[in-house]
Amino acid sequence: MFLISRILSFIERRKQTVYGCLNFIGVCYSLFMIVALAAVNIFGTCPALYDDCQLPIFAASIIIFQVCANLVLIQLTMRINKVSYWTLNSSSLLPRAVSPPQEGSASLNDGKSGRFCHECNMNAPRRSHHCPLCGVCVLRCDHHCFMTGACIGIGNQRYFVVFLFWVCIGALYGISYMLAYMNSYVAPNSKYGYVIYLAPFACIQWLLGNLNGFHVFLSVLLCISISANFAAVGFFCAQIFYITQGYTMFDYHNYRTKHNLAGDGSNLKERLALIFGRNWFLNFIFPQFWNRNIFTAEIAQNVFLMTSKDV
Ligand SMILES: [Zn+2]
Ligand SMILES: [Zn+2]
Repeated sequence: MFLISRILSFIERRKQTVYGCLNFIGVCYSLFMIVALAAVNIFGTCPALYDDCQLPIFAASIIIFQVCANLVLIQLTMRINKVSYWTLNSSSLLPRAVSPPQEGSASLNDGKSGRFCHECNMNAPRRSHHCPLCGVCVLRCDHHCFMTGACIGIGNQRYFVVFLFWVCIGALYGISYMLAYMNSYVAPNSKYGYVIYLAPFACIQWLLGNLNGFHVFLSVLLCISISANFAAVGFFCAQIFYITQGYTMFDYHNYRTKHNLAGDGSNLKERLALIFGRNWFLNFIFPQFWNRNIFTAEIAQNVFLMTSKDV
């Protein structure tokens, strides 16, 4: 008990450092998985299975480009998440000034008007959320993603969704090659058959000298890739659900239930255009970074939560 309370108080004191470390570890993990999965299949499994790997490598290059391009864009467009970005570029959309609320004031959290962020020392729309790690108020905040090291908000949610989509494709592609290789070269030579595919069991066999380094690495990578793929599919489906409902994950589970917040947009087309800009599907073919988020007057009013009608 004493040790746990000491650890918790240490985390509380060093919150920023702990968050920073988790962010760094998450991004390193993502980059490692991309490089490891690509290298193992391009230089290991594919040449062992087929004489000509030109087409699979071409397909892998497209997947790697899509994953990396969207990962970079998630970072680069974080500035568009900031409330200050909209203050400078679209000041007419922002709510009227709200004074810093007094202690115990009813307006502190009435859920209807904008709010005052004490950390940023500025007025912010209700549909923004202060991220303690990024140190900014994020507009239409979905969540802070440690795997990409970024806050997911209005500016970069589209790249996050497309990133997840290509991660699912890439993981499935890599898993199929690893399974084909292991079915041909690992399972037939193991007296334990397919059980050797399980990472903990493969590690024990490696320590006992019954499995070589590459094969144990394949087993570990296969298990991690399958779990990562399940996670990516789950996250992708959840993101599509929230987007089609006109909410962020944060708003859906907070403001919708607590304050009866209506979803953004009156139809699916408007909701997709808010996140992906014009022609949403093109983002899945090539990142449409020049294509801006489209706010209708009603969506702007809902996102910036103005009570007046002068949008
Ligand atoms: Zn803030
Ligand atoms: Zn953040």
